[in-house]
This record gives sequence, structure tokens and C-alpha cells, in this order.
Amino acid sequence: MVILRQTMRSLRASQYFPRQTKPHKKAGKEVLMKSLSIRIVQLIVVLALVTGVATLATRNSRGQSPSAKSESQQKTESPTQKSETLVKPTVMTTDRAPVNAVATSAFADAVTQNTLLRNDLLWTFGSKQQHGWYLYDLLIGRTLNLRPDASTSDFASAIAAWQKQKGLTPTGVLDEDAWMAFVSAWQSNRLKDKTPATPDQLLTAPSSDFYDPARLEELRQVEKNTYGAYKQMIAAAIADPILKLQHTSATELAANEKFFKIVSSFRSREYQEKLRRESPNAGSAGLALNSPHFTGRALDLYVGGDPVDTRDANRAIQVNTAAYQWLVRNAERFGFRPYFYEPWHWEYVR
Ligand SMILES: [Zn+2]
Repeated sequence: MVILRQTMRSLRASQYFPRQTKPHKKAGKEVLMKSLSIRIVQLIVVLALVTGVATLATRNSRGQSPSAKSESQQKTESPTQKSETLVKPTVMTTDRAPVNAVATSAFADAVTQNTLLRNDLLWTFGSKQQHGWYLYDLLIGRTLNLRPDASTSDFASAIAAWQKQKGLTPTGVLDEDAWMAFVSAWQSNRLKDKTPATPDQLLTAPSSDFYDPARLEELRQVEKNTYGAYKQMIAAAIADPILKLQHTSATELAANEKFFKIVSSFRSREYQEKLRRESPNAGSAGLALNSPHFTGRALDLYVGGDPVDTRDANRAIQVNTAAYQWLVRNAERFGFRPYFYEPWHWEYVR
């Protein structure tokens, strides 16, 4: 491009023909002829150069992915350079910009609505009225495979794709129907077989694995495979410098470290009944009649705040901890899936 620009500049400066108007007849003619032939040669050279540059540019643009650099170069170069017209067909014109512009305007209303609904959408779960879906940003992002930001048209666009996939009108608005489709998708990923664990399927984990180290032995039982997966996951969490977990070895959390410790694991039917008697108003979302904790495959892990309190303010603290965010990103690798409503509750589904 630089060569081309320079050449064109010199060409434009000479205007192809000399400016002198009335040369002496004979000498003038010769000079004119001479300079004309020089100009012609120059023109041929320029044309050859242009063709060469154009070919090169074509090759480059074909081989290149539309990087940010090449796009910004186009933006700064194209409007001012007259020479651009000569190589225009070879310059990669991205049709991405106009498409994005159309998408942005099409989803402008969806963006406005999503920003409001994130906090205000009224829906019901566990016979309790719920407000908004902001507590589930991370899970939504994980499901849609994007950074969840309700104030962007990218988010609205991904919601529209989600709606399409679920047979809903693709408005891009995360309204009640679109939202309940997320809830049912997450619920369907949970542990299906809730057959209570038999004693031989359980082991008693050491008290050092528990949030409350004084927890009774009978309440420290975990299904064997679940425990193995849990320990592997803990080793990975310890190894991740982002979390800065206090630990005594590559696999053991320190006594004063609370994050990722087990709050609750296997619960017998008898124990669950006792809990129900103690808090009769807990409701179906609180203490399930058919709890996955009967299987020994459900673990409540400490992710911050009040360990197992479903109040929104408490869950808002939990979903913002590095521990919870890490689990959302990594637990699946170890076979654990979330219960969307309780940030602490993870089920081993393998
Ligand atoms: Zn639980």
C-alpha cells in the first residue's frame, strides 16, 4: 500500500503530462515526445506495480482471518486514499459491521427489557415468588457459552437463539417462558436415580473434610465414587492459584479454610424426617421429601455467606465468590452438576 500511495502521488504530481504550455516548435516537440515516452514507461511501471500489489493484497486478504488489526487498518485507510479505488476489489470489505448494526437495532428493545427483567421478572419456584434472574447470570452464561451481560445485544442475540432452540418466539427477551426453559434444562441435568444409598455404598469421610469439624460421624457419610470425585476436584481447586485456598498438602484443605468444605452429604430418610419436623415451614424447595441427599451423591459445599440459606441476599453473596464461580466453570469436569437454586448444592451424576 505504501509503494502504491507513493507511486500515485508522483503520478498525480506530474499529471501524466508536463505543464509547460507553449514550448518552442521543434525543440518543444522533441522535449514533449521524450517526456511523453518517459511518462508512458512510468505509467506501465505503475500499472505493473498496481497489479502486483493488488494480487498480493488479494492473497493476503484470503489467507487472513479478519483480525482486529486489518479491520482498523481498513477503517483508517479507505476514506481518504484516492488510490484505494484502484485496489478496491482486493480490499476485504467486511459485511460484519452492517450485520451487527442491524442486529443491534433489532435487539435494542430486547436489551432494554433484559436489563429490567434481570432484577424484576416475577416467577414462581417452590411455591415461592421469585424476583429476577440476576442470581443465575453465571449459569445462564455457562449454558449459552458467553459472558453473561444482560445489557448487550450479544446477550439478546444468544437468548433469541435459545428461544428458537426451545420452540419459542425469538424475541431476544429473557422473559418468563425463556427463563423457565433454562430452569427445566438445568433441572433435567440433575441426578435422576434417587435410590437411597445402601450402607456398602457409603464411606465415612474424615471430619477435616467438613465445614463443621465437630460434625457427627453418622452425618459424614458420602457415596464412595462421589467422595473420590470430590477429592479430585478439591486437588484441582487447591492447584488453581486464582482461589488461593489454604491447604496442608496437594489434596488436603487446611483446618482454617472453609471454602469447598462439605456442609452436608448423605442424609438418611430418618434424619431428613427429623429436619422436616424441626422446620415444618421449609416447603418443598427447602427440605425435599425425595431428597438427592438420600443417595449420598449430593454434596452441599461451602461457597460463602450463610452456608445453606436460600434468601436472595445470601445467595447474591454466594454466587459472587471465587469458589462458586470456579465450581460453575469446573465442577462438570469432575462429574458434579449444580442445583441452580442452591449455589452450595452439587450432585455427582456419573
Ligand atoms: Zn443439598
